[in-house]
Amino acid sequence: MKKAIYLDYAAATPLDPKVLRAMEPYLTSEFYNPSSTYLVGRRARRTLEAARAQVTASLGAKPAEVTFTAGATEANNLAIQGLMKQYPDGEVVVSAIEHESVLAPAKLFNCKLAPVDTKGIVDMTALAKLINDKTVLVSVMMASNEIGSLQPIREITKLLRQIRSRRCEKSVKRPIFFHTDAAQAPCYLDIHVARLGVDMMSLNAGKIYGPKQSGVLYIKAGIHLQPLILGGGQENNLRSGTENLANFVGLAAALEIAGSLRNQEADRVAALRQQFIEGLKNLPKASINGSPNHSVPHIVSVKFDGLDNERLMFELDEAGIQAATGSACSASSQEPSYVLSAIGLSPQEARSSLRFSFGRSTTQKDINKTVSRLKELV
Ligand code: PLP
Repeated sequence: MKKAIYLDYAAATPLDPKVLRAMEPYLTSEFYNPSSTYLVGRRARRTLEAARAQVTASLGAKPAEVTFTAGATEANNLAIQGLMKQYPDGEVVVSAIEHESVLAPAKLFNCKLAPVDTKGIVDMTALAKLINDKTVLVSVMMASNEIGSLQPIREITKLLRQIRSRRCEKSVKRPIFFHTDAAQAPCYLDIHVARLGVDMMSLNAGKIYGPKQSGVLYIKAGIHLQPLILGGGQENNLRSGTENLANFVGLAAALEIAGSLRNQEADRVAALRQQFIEGLKNLPKASINGSPNHSVPHIVSVKFDGLDNERLMFELDEAGIQAATGSACSASSQEPSYVLSAIGLSPQEARSSLRFSFGRSTTQKDINKTVSRLKELV
């Protein structure tokens, strides 16, 4: 059998062998509950706190600001619901291209959607107009999981600083916070919370060569959230349930490795993406959705005029190449992607689009083979 070419790293990444090695003891001999008070339980607690410290070092945060979760979905829900439940008449503004795990909880409250331009970048003027004195939360992702577009995080934090000082002058007491879903970021982008100026940030180990069902919500000191899961009061009362020590140790290791490889992988993968885009130039039917330049290095969404994306995806699959018809969560949906609609594609154009995403094992040869196969199929 030919080696498969996996081009769906935005959906899932394999576990890094070093991460697996770090996790192994906590799946086997060191299985203890961190809440147990005998010696080995206390040892498990120390390991958990060491993992938290490792995460804080990667984020430039303090240990009390890091809450472990079961992935970015839970982190996003905790950030949005945990905050908004305290402000029944408050408003939340989110970008129109957020992941469903931001959109769905935001829509439980008074929610406004900030539009994006044809490149898939949040329109700052429109965003500013949507914020009023009732707004408690703005949530905009660092990079789109579907088209890769980078969002103006630092501009948004600047805008919120201005809004805070205006509120202060007007004696408006209501706070305003900024949350970002950074699930697609750690392997390629700076996720240092102070440099970014964010108040809350969601991360996910399953996209960074760590274990699935493990994530982090960074919550800046002083921000109070209501828990979503009640019980034994673990994770500083924010998330009850026995801690998944192996997963959190894996997450911390994966995050550290992502940081150490970030610069070299960002350059290498960006070059692969560029090679792919250049290769597609010979295919008259192919065009890039969003911005070819203002994007995370590992994601590219391509429209193949007049073709059906599901059919093309299955044809590529038969040829041993795995790409996605959309984000992993909506890949099986019949509806055209709301992200592609938000950047102005018609339903038919959205149904002609495929997402290719690259990672640590992707090579120039993989890109050449994929381009050749696409030339045959398109
Ligand atoms: N946010 C973004 C941007 C994602 O890409 C994903 C996963 O696709 C998630 C959130 C949800 O992550 P998980 O399914 O691991 O909870």
